[in-house]
Amino acid sequence: MSDSKTTEGGAFGGVEDLYREVILEHFRSPKNKGHLKNPSAKAEGVNPLCGDQISISILVEGEKLKEIRFEGHGCAISQSSASMMTALLKGKTLKKANVILSTFKNKMGVEKKVDPAESVDIGDLESLEGVKRYPVRIKCALLAWNTFLKSLSNLKK
Ligand code: ZN
Repeated sequence: MSDSKTTEGGAFGGVEDLYREVILEHFRSPKNKGHLKNPSAKAEGVNPLCGDQISISILVEGEKLKEIRFEGHGCAISQSSASMMTALLKGKTLKKANVILSTFKNKMGVEKKVDPAESVDIGDLESLEGVKRYPVRIKCALLAWNTFLKSLSNLKK
């Protein structure tokens, strides 16, 4: 685990802040990339503003998100967010997954405050916080999450 404290102090101001090392790492070596053979549900998402594309497939057993994979192409923000998301959500209950989703959206400034008692550690996703200052890129960061939500709603059908 890297020590994120070393970047503290405000030396980062420009685009460097957007493309933290951890983001590039997930972009270069994405986690859970591919399609599930027998998914419980899947969904496609696009962000025409940037040309990002993500497809998500999930395997749900009971209340648990047993497997989650993504496939896609686009900018580093969209693809690394998808990689981090799948790494974080895999194995969680659907309830917990929704809390994580709210926590992340809240970090991106697009959802109202999360109850601190409900808030969770979102790990590497903290590195995407700089995206908040680039409103156009927030859609990139959220693409995988919105696509995941779509796959959940496909599940209920
Ligand atoms: Zn993008």
